[in-house]
Amino acid sequence: MSRGENSRRLFDRARQLLPGGVNSPVRAFGAVGGQPFFTDRGEGSRIRDVDGREFIDYVLSFGPLILGHAHPQVIRAAGSALERGIHFGTSTVLEIELAEKVTALVPSVEMVRCVNSGTEATMSAVRLARAVTRRDLILKFEGCYHGHADAFLAKAGSGLATFGLPASPGVPERITELTVTVDFNDRDAAKEAFAKHGERIAAVIVEPVVGNSGLILPRPGFLECLREETRAHGALLIFDEVMTGFRVALGGAQTRYSVRPDITTLGKVIGGGLPVGAYGAPREIMSRVAPEGDVYQAGTLSGNPVAMAAGLAQLEILERDDPFADLEERGRRLVDGILAAAERHGVPATGAVVGSMWGVFFREGPVTNFREAEGADRELFGRFHRECLEGGVFLPPSQFEACFLSTAHSDADIELTLEVADAALAKVAAHG
Ligand SMILES: *Cc1c(COP(=O)(O)O)cnc(C)c1O
Repeated sequence: MSRGENSRRLFDRARQLLPGGVNSPVRAFGAVGGQPFFTDRGEGSRIRDVDGREFIDYVLSFGPLILGHAHPQVIRAAGSALERGIHFGTSTVLEIELAEKVTALVPSVEMVRCVNSGTEATMSAVRLARAVTRRDLILKFEGCYHGHADAFLAKAGSGLATFGLPASPGVPERITELTVTVDFNDRDAAKEAFAKHGERIAAVIVEPVVGNSGLILPRPGFLECLREETRAHGALLIFDEVMTGFRVALGGAQTRYSVRPDITTLGKVIGGGLPVGAYGAPREIMSRVAPEGDVYQAGTLSGNPVAMAAGLAQLEILERDDPFADLEERGRRLVDGILAAAERHGVPATGAVVGSMWGVFFREGPVTNFREAEGADRELFGRFHRECLEGGVFLPPSQFEACFLSTAHSDADIELTLEVADAALAKVAAHG
């Protein structure tokens, strides 16, 4: 069997039936070139494809699998829920247990509503913020991803702090006009937006650590500034912690950076790899959600017991082991190692680590916003990605995705990854 033959055949079949052969765009490897592979199974830090090749996995389902693949306790919890029935359309005790865990771990959250994806969580959080403030504008940051709802598929118009333009066909301008977009880490731009539109802004929504432009950390004072501006103008602050929740620290970025948002959105880790999202806030705000309040939001499969059980098992292990310092130390070794290799081979690079998130950009640093991230060498990243894959290391198939670590990644995995990355950079550099 030649390399990747089964995956190649499956991808040909998939392309006849699914747009681009996938159910979510980045899986098609369009940003890096090369052949997307089909996974047969995963265990711990590794996944195996349908051609029997094994990869050390730093994608981890794009975030959820912080304990690695097929963690026995998570599998057992989901399995035991599954055996009692898949879904009911009534409440189960697991929903209370997950809510108790989330409110105990995430400081700003007193009540929580579970949904089925991060997109649903952010969409619902914005509806709630608009209802609470009786205002219509939202302020977001270029390069922050909050799911694919119309309001978030907005890009900045020309000039600072102007109304947004659609970032996709099918999104009406009349919707994106309600989204003001400015640069991440730019306090002055955020202040200008408030000076201009302050009494119309319902909420600022932000990834407190950006994971969807590659990994970009907040500058000291930036999140605090958003907290002050929102408070001063009667707007709400939404931390979109779909990626950072239970990933950069047990209590998310809000504990790591000691800034309390009004509304928090969660996803990914909270579901243990099953489709779960959630939004939460202090009681006063969440009481507005139906049926306690008047803000409508619902879901046939919301609070699904199998998903609740898997998420809860994952959160319980994280709470018991608090592995974040250890994960960050490993991430640091990875990033330092890759940057050192890049320097040896004359490839410009910069990188960052926070908790179990890490990332490298192929350009001179620092990278503090999306425009700077866009200046990274994407073609070089594509070649690096393909070489790493060939060497048995699976990185996110885009320069604009954060890399993840799990508790299943061993010292040996890190060492092997650094060897593969070094060889990949040598080749990429030699290629010119
Ligand atoms: C992944 C992600 C989303 C969207 O979540 P889905 O489950 O893919 O809908 C929203 N916000 C952030 C910060 C994310 O990383």
